Amino acid sequence: MRRVGKNSFTEIYFPGCNPSFIETSDGYVMIDSPQIPLDALKWRERMEEKAPIRYLINTEPHGDHITGNAYFPQVQVVGHIKLQECFDRYLTAFGSIEEKRERMKQTDPDSVWLVGHPDYPPSNPPKLTFTDELTLHLGNHTFHIIHHPGHTAPQTSIHVPEEGVVFTGDNVFYKCRTWLQECDPWEWLAALDQLNALDVETIVPGHGEQCSKAYLKEQAQIIANWVGLVERFVDRGVTPDEALKEPIAVTKQDPYPIGQRLFPHDERLTGLIVRNLHKRILEKKEARA
Ligand SMILES: [Zn+2]
Repeated sequence: MRRVGKNSFTEIYFPGCNPSFIETSDGYVMIDSPQIPLDALKWRERMEEKAPIRYLINTEPHGDHITGNAYFPQVQVVGHIKLQECFDRYLTAFGSIEEKRERMKQTDPDSVWLVGHPDYPPSNPPKLTFTDELTLHLGNHTFHIIHHPGHTAPQTSIHVPEEGVVFTGDNVFYKCRTWLQECDPWEWLAALDQLNALDVETIVPGHGEQCSKAYLKEQAQIIANWVGLVERFVDRGVTPDEALKEPIAVTKQDPYPIGQRLFPHDERLTGLIVRNLHKRILEKKEARA
């Protein structure tokens, strides 16, 4: 557990995203949820011993940010309207409950009994939604919840001015590999500019340690590097299949290794990134012509 503000905490050592919480004078606000069921329940117990959890705000639809929502069935879930629409599709993207239970036998045997447990229905999507922005007040804290599409379409940042902190989800990967498998890279770069304009000392990224706004430049460069590489393929008329026959110089685009138990996806991710960016760059080129 890492303190990132006077009353703000994040967990950077869990497999998956950095789930976080803010302790207000009127209860807790969570940002995303722990991916491993037992971690989620232990979190809930620790918090509820002190105060109720008032809100759980999701930053994006990827499984490592939303699967743990199941273990907070009484908590008001907040998220972008598009996240509400696609929640179940993303939740089931990695298989049925039976398949997840089988996988949990490897990931965390102690959590197997909690997968598909009748007290914890797997789908707990946002009920309180917004389109551009939503401000919540709790105790002495303000939560500016902002739509920042980029890494995903419903991507959301949570700015807590009293803490000097913004929680970005995966629009920021701090010194670990950047996932661009479904992003709109131009929206993402615009979102980074908007994050840079916020008056904050601390950024809590989706993965990796907390950082300052100084890192946003480096994050933008990694996105620009990938776009530049794939633009050169598109300009030469090279298809993704042809491009992927040769090894891609991944570390020239993004110097950081993949983290949080995601190494089995390292090579596959390169293919996904090239295909996504190729499609988007080609569409943009054709729209211009
Ligand atoms: Zn993500």
